[in-house]
Amino acid sequence: MSRVSGWLLGAVLLSASAGAACWSASPTPAPVAPPPAAVADDGPRMTEFATGAGAQAEPAGAKFDPDRALKYLKQLCDIGPRVSGSDGMKKQQELIEKHFKDLGAAVTRQEFKARQWSRKDPVAMTNLVVTWHPAKERRVLLCSHYDTRPLADEERDPRSWTKPFVSANDGASGVALLMELGHHVKDLKTEFGVDFVLFDGEEYVFDTGNSSPTGVGRDRYFLGSDHFADEYAKAKGVRKHRYEAGVLFDLCAAAGARLAIEGYSWQLARPLVEQIWGTAKAVGAKSFVAEKGFKRSDDVQDDHLALNRVGIPTVDVIDFDYPHWHKLSDTPDKVSGPQMAEVSTVVTVWLQKIR
Ligand SMILES: [Zn+2]
Repeated sequence: MSRVSGWLLGAVLLSASAGAACWSASPTPAPVAPPPAAVADDGPRMTEFATGAGAQAEPAGAKFDPDRALKYLKQLCDIGPRVSGSDGMKKQQELIEKHFKDLGAAVTRQEFKARQWSRKDPVAMTNLVVTWHPAKERRVLLCSHYDTRPLADEERDPRSWTKPFVSANDGASGVALLMELGHHVKDLKTEFGVDFVLFDGEEYVFDTGNSSPTGVGRDRYFLGSDHFADEYAKAKGVRKHRYEAGVLFDLCAAAGARLAIEGYSWQLARPLVEQIWGTAKAVGAKSFVAEKGFKRSDDVQDDHLALNRVGIPTVDVIDFDYPHWHKLSDTPDKVSGPQMAEVSTVVTVWLQKIR
């Protein structure tokens, strides 16, 4: 792991190895190739910070309620596993849809079927799109996956892999963070429309690097974000809106999280990295560290790759060294309300500063 001091990162030293947020950590070739430079559908245009005369005081972040966010997290985990296509997923969809509709958002179900290499039949998938201020054409996308992995395959004993895995920090914490943010985003002073997008099928994987006899997982990750990105690109010329930036929340809410700069985010959306980590520094959000990479891997394959592929500069806010990753011990007690609030502060201050 390359380490840099201070805020400005000089050189890009991306490691050749690729890990994944929700991926086997085994050093096997990645089934999803590292992305090419963003193929912009509208031409890349990054949000900019307002420039004005003199230093302005930072705007205040949203008044995020950490206890209520934890309550949402527990509600999600109390459902049990929320694997794509399962009853648990259906219950979760109903809970989330009602929650955001009650708060005044429009909720759209983007439904599709996906075929997984190891499964006989295709599975029904649904991305949930929660829209605030729908008339605004310039938009920002805040996202998380909301499916749980069918196998807790970082457990040492394979007999434990099929035990109920609630995936608290992995997926659910991002959803809970957005559920709490839903109370505040409507009144936030931002020039942008905001969509929360919850991706299905991020890790609907059974044939993983750990489980496959070949040591190479053959199942695909990121079914939901790939579908979402493809539909967005296809709708060019029809849709009025345009996403100018995206922030992905994954594994970012544990107590003591270290949110270092993920390699692909740096490679593909560097100005956005500088905005987000710069904002974090300005507001004293200490979990955001201006250092590159993690012990497991500098680069993390995650849902942000699909978005960057279609011209939406997107960063992954992640702690890829989370010790309970893909283990049964990834339970709600590992997640911290104040940590979720810190992430919220950074993002909501940033939302008010971009132009
Ligand atoms: Zn995962």
